[in-house]
Amino acid sequence: MTTSDSPVVTRFAPSPTGYLHLGTAKAALFAAQHARGGQFLLRIEDIDRGRCRPEFEAAIYEDLTWLGLTWEQPVRRQSEHMADYEGAIGTLKKLGLVCPCFCTRADIANASAAPHGLIATGPDGPLYPGTCRALSSAAAQKRIDAGESYALRLRMDDAARGAGSLTWRDGVRGKQIVTPEIFGDVVIARKDTPTSYHLACTWDDALQGVTLVTRGEDLFAATHVHRLLQHLLNLPTPAYHHHGLLLGPDGKKFSKRDQAPTLRALREAGRTADEVRAMIGKA
Ligand code: GLU
Repeated sequence: MTTSDSPVVTRFAPSPTGYLHLGTAKAALFAAQHARGGQFLLRIEDIDRGRCRPEFEAAIYEDLTWLGLTWEQPVRRQSEHMADYEGAIGTLKKLGLVCPCFCTRADIANASAAPHGLIATGPDGPLYPGTCRALSSAAAQKRIDAGESYALRLRMDDAARGAGSLTWRDGVRGKQIVTPEIFGDVVIARKDTPTSYHLACTWDDALQGVTLVTRGEDLFAATHVHRLLQHLLNLPTPAYHHHGLLLGPDGKKFSKRDQAPTLRALREAGRTADEVRAMIGKA
């Protein structure tokens, strides 16, 4: 718990998978402004080794500096701290809450399709139908020893039942009762990297003493999982503030995947940092 007189610590936690655009710049400015004289941290969430690129990370520092932001040093780069996340997963394993899963995306989509063809979906995609939970630990170990790739999932029903009624507070929507069940058996370590966004983000927010997590409302549901992980790993719960997303002219959120204007494209087109800040402020 934070007290009203302890300094605020906020963070901006981009993944270097593309150039910053107006939407991500809003998240950065929002976090920096809400530090209100406390500390503003920058964390590089680069666990996805296939999609993260050093040039995008370098561009994050350059673009944020151009926008006029400064942040605490050193910057935490998640790829350098995999042992921390493995330690946290070890704790969850000791609690008997982790199971290996060998399914591919297609296996999950096919198995979770209802007879009428609809796929049960949670905030992270198709809900895991529990296929590998039926494997005995000997059978799972045999497949691991044979070199099959696998993810680790949280046994959500056991974890949520054991946790009882948990709450967290959002600066806009107020008190929330956790409903992590909407994610099903959420992935805590991916096949390609020994952690997941949920696990690494929750761990680091606590480790870095973040007192106020600000991020876009597209990540609102994720906070239910993060609150559950805090409980299971005995971590403190910060305050949260999920802000509205910047929408493009088509009414859809700006994202790296579409042609959202990047900060560097705007800069090259002659826009000043003040103009870009004003564009974000008005949108
Ligand atoms: N790394 C996440 C992203 O780029 C943001 C994580 C967060 O703010 O919790 O979408």
